[in-house]
Amino acid sequence: MTSYFDEHDCEPLKEGERPNELLHLARLLLDTGLAFEDEFSGFFRGEKPPPPASKKVVESLPSILISPTQAATGASCPICLGKYDEEDSVKQLPCKHRFHPTCIMPWLERTNSCPVCRHELPTDDKEYEEFRKHKARKEQRDFDLENLHGSMYG
Ligand SMILES: [Zn+2]
Ligand SMILES: [Zn+2]
Repeated sequence: MTSYFDEHDCEPLKEGERPNELLHLARLLLDTGLAFEDEFSGFFRGEKPPPPASKKVVESLPSILISPTQAATGASCPICLGKYDEEDSVKQLPCKHRFHPTCIMPWLERTNSCPVCRHELPTDDKEYEEFRKHKARKEQRDFDLENLHGSMYG
């Protein structure tokens, strides 16, 4: 039977020495991060483009009527750069950016993020949604790891 120390590839503790729990935790976090990059390597390296926005979500985007004040301030569509006219009906994304329906609809059929701020809409792609969940967790882990590093060597 291999000993705990062989399996974990670390030196046995000397008499009175305390295990470096922080170091152990840091290793654990790092390993999980690498496994993640492996599993979703296509999305992670940008080889696989993000899928289109979920049809349901796109259909339920609110339409906003451009007010006289908004028209007067020269608000325009970020895609075609055309100024909105009073009473124009525009589509608003969850990030509050607005577009002509004829401009944003074809965009969201190709990809799932706002062309201005890259805010991501949900997709119908199971693999991508899984990737996003992992990505959020990984970002949290990287953050934790940095803090951990700071408390060990800072
Ligand atoms: Zn437009
Ligand atoms: Zn946006």
